[in-house]
Amino acid sequence: MKGCDELKNGCAFVNGLWTPGIRRQVFPVMNPATGEVIAEVADMETEDIESALDGAVTAQRKWQERTGKERAAILRLWHTKLMENKEALAALITEEQGKPLAEARGEVEFGASFVEWFAEEAKRIYGDLIPGPASDRRFVVVKQPIGVCAAITPWNFPLAMITRKVAAALAAGCSMVVKPSEETPLTALMAASLATDAGVPDGLINVITTLDAAGAGDLFCQHEKVRKISFTGSTRVGKLLLEGSAPGLKKVSLELGGNAPFIIFDDADLDRAIDGVVAAKYRNSGQTCVCANRIFVHDAVHDEFVEGLSRKVAELQLGNGAEESVNQGPLINERAVKKAEALVEDACARGAKVVCGGRRWRTNHAWFEPTILTSVDRSMRIANEEAFAPIAPVFRFRNDKEVLEMANDTAAGLMAYIYTSDVSRMWSFGERLEVGMVAINEGVIATELAPFGGVKESGMGREGSKYGIDEYVEIKQICFGGLRTL
Ligand code: ADP
Repeated sequence: MKGCDELKNGCAFVNGLWTPGIRRQVFPVMNPATGEVIAEVADMETEDIESALDGAVTAQRKWQERTGKERAAILRLWHTKLMENKEALAALITEEQGKPLAEARGEVEFGASFVEWFAEEAKRIYGDLIPGPASDRRFVVVKQPIGVCAAITPWNFPLAMITRKVAAALAAGCSMVVKPSEETPLTALMAASLATDAGVPDGLINVITTLDAAGAGDLFCQHEKVRKISFTGSTRVGKLLLEGSAPGLKKVSLELGGNAPFIIFDDADLDRAIDGVVAAKYRNSGQTCVCANRIFVHDAVHDEFVEGLSRKVAELQLGNGAEESVNQGPLINERAVKKAEALVEDACARGAKVVCGGRRWRTNHAWFEPTILTSVDRSMRIANEEAFAPIAPVFRFRNDKEVLEMANDTAAGLMAYIYTSDVSRMWSFGERLEVGMVAINEGVIATELAPFGGVKESGMGREGSKYGIDEYVEIKQICFGGLRTL
């Protein structure tokens, strides 16, 4: 890891170099478990971002001339570097983001898997040959890189949310300027530095660190060289970016907030369903966009489910994620804890009951107790907002039609979970739930192999899988005319 010594030295990573930015301003990065400042990184200005974009333009022109096979070989080396540095990356993720080490290790493997996958895909960006409308004509369809891309990424998966964009872009022949979350810039910087160690040419992956997220977003939207913006984060910011990029007609991929229903029917394997809820709700302390946000349980199994879930939740170990025994880290910051408190307070004021948890765990840090609420209904904020906290609100339902209507009664459409042993139900709900992903009898389904993304206000575009590369290519038809026949 030759370049990573500078990781915590007040720099960003642009054009293959650690750079302090024009004004040499910095901002602190905190450990959410301790409140300590663990590093300072460059607080970059518009001019810095413009010069990163200039470098990305030059690098992209050369990169698109390389064959898919050459790009694949370099990406494979980046994958190797990420895996060789798994422990260091995992420790860094836990330090700046708070998730327990075991989950951080899982994120490194998950994040690296996109690099491996898109290395393989780089060789398979196939086009088509279309028969002509006249005997003297043929059409060839080719897929070409869009060009310079910009990514804005969140803090909940500081590595994976970057690699699933950057690796696809590079495989397609694009370059990328990434603005990671101001909460978790260090993992992004380390990943980019490892890419350089692996032989990724300078300027292809640039990491801009800045506190001025809106300024960076505006610049990406307005800059004529940026042809594509890929964003993962809140629906509010996603809408701003879509609007901002409309005048320049840029391509946009958005992976936004969810409000996932988790439906447990009376024929479900209840133990399996409870394990599924624990994984889908309390992983990363409830801070993922596919977290179960509304848990619908059939009346006949409701009480048994709540009892079983309470037993599992009581076993969760809160603490600093750097300790191996801990499986519930802190929330990202104080603001997140305040929101969790407000959601519980609102629900209780409208008749919800706290079965367990419901409060912050320690007064001076950002933990929130794993929580279960029952007697939840649609009037409550928690039914309509993404909690991003370890709060499981349990709704009771009595029939299939009712629960389908409730599940779809939201502007979000990212993820849905159903637990049932009835194949007809699997199909009817699988087809009728208004989401981009349905998990049947599984609590965690994210993998590089399958497409990830949402419908409705959860976004547009897909990441990972054979579809992920489509976000970074343009389709061009080339017509061969005037062909002589024999
Ligand atoms: P969260 O509230 O979960 O942090 P955000 O959507 O605010 O979700 O953050 C996701 C990413 O979007 C972060 O990198 C953040 O810095 C960035 N961001 C926040 N506000 C804006 C904005 N107005 N324009 C562009 N990016 C933004």
